[in-house]
Amino acid sequence: MALAHGTRENPAEVVIVGSGPAGYTAAIYSARAQLEPILYQGSVTAGGALMNTTEVENFPGFPTGIMGPELMDSMRDQAERFGTKMITDDITEMELAGSIKRLVDGSGNEVFAKSVILAMGSAYRELGLPDEKRLSGHGVSWCATCDGFFFRDQDIAVVGGGDSAVEEATFLTRFASSVTMIHRRDSLRASKIMAERAHSNPKIKFAWNSEVSEIHGETKVSAVTLRNINDGSTSTLPITGLFVAIGHDPRNELVKNQITLNSEGYVLVDEGSTHTNLPGVFACGDLVDHVYRQAITAAGSGCQAALDAERFLSDSH
Ligand code: NAP
Repeated sequence: MALAHGTRENPAEVVIVGSGPAGYTAAIYSARAQLEPILYQGSVTAGGALMNTTEVENFPGFPTGIMGPELMDSMRDQAERFGTKMITDDITEMELAGSIKRLVDGSGNEVFAKSVILAMGSAYRELGLPDEKRLSGHGVSWCATCDGFFFRDQDIAVVGGGDSAVEEATFLTRFASSVTMIHRRDSLRASKIMAERAHSNPKIKFAWNSEVSEIHGETKVSAVTLRNINDGSTSTLPITGLFVAIGHDPRNELVKNQITLNSEGYVLVDEGSTHTNLPGVFACGDLVDHVYRQAITAAGSGCQAALDAERFLSDSH
């Protein structure tokens, strides 16, 4: 069924793709500017990465912290309150060149727009090991808040040394009897406050200078082989759960053949703005930002994208 607003004859002013802090903030601003935005939230991942997070302690305005999902629900409600049309589906195709952009959703509906804000965020990075996919959901996980409960009184491990890895490990100590952080360096990359939290937690152990070279288990994880990156020696760590927290890659699949990206695959925007190389196409959040990657910076760039789109639309009228 074609949308009354967003047809070829009556294109939407702006379509937003993505529902993290960047997408929702872009929607709040463009809805308040009377642009009647249509936002594609995704079919399964509405709310983005913060839906998998526990407490967010550094988003300004919440002195005692706020749970990630609650923060995202509030942003969505705020965007809806001003008239954003939320669609719980994925965009599967985009044609972004030309003055009217064409997008197709997962149900095959077409939507046309004068401008598009790309806010698809980033996706969890995988280790790339042969048994990782096979044992996914059977001990291998990318989401401590989703799966931590299943590892009560068990010995488990987290791969990575950044803030995400520390956050996952700290959360998992609520359930597990021990959590080994497996990191390929000899110190954590995480921020000081997070690193201190890990070091002072008696349930967290460290396997330094180590990478996972094999994951073992017939029907569920039973152990991993660790390879010491300095001397190549290997050892076996018996664990029943392996949480992978080694960062993210930008979700550029739908645009990589039509939009200029940087060498790491992030969408390139003109410095200090959200303009991509295509007129009327703006990008924000983790899809663009490989440096800061915070909820607040994503929200800020979503605001910029909405303001850039608004200016673009008023200049082209
Ligand atoms: P990150 O900071 O990029 O850290 C990724 C970690 O994974 C690094 O320690 C990296 O090792 C390791 N790694 C990458 N590829 C690997 C591989 N193939 N095998 C083994 N290890 C690998 O990513 P992040 O922790 O997801 O954090 C992303 C951003 O979000 C950061 O800006 C972070 O500050 C922010 N964040 C903030 C909070 C918070 O403040 N509460 C929570 C979560 C995330 P190397 O160190 O060797 O590169």
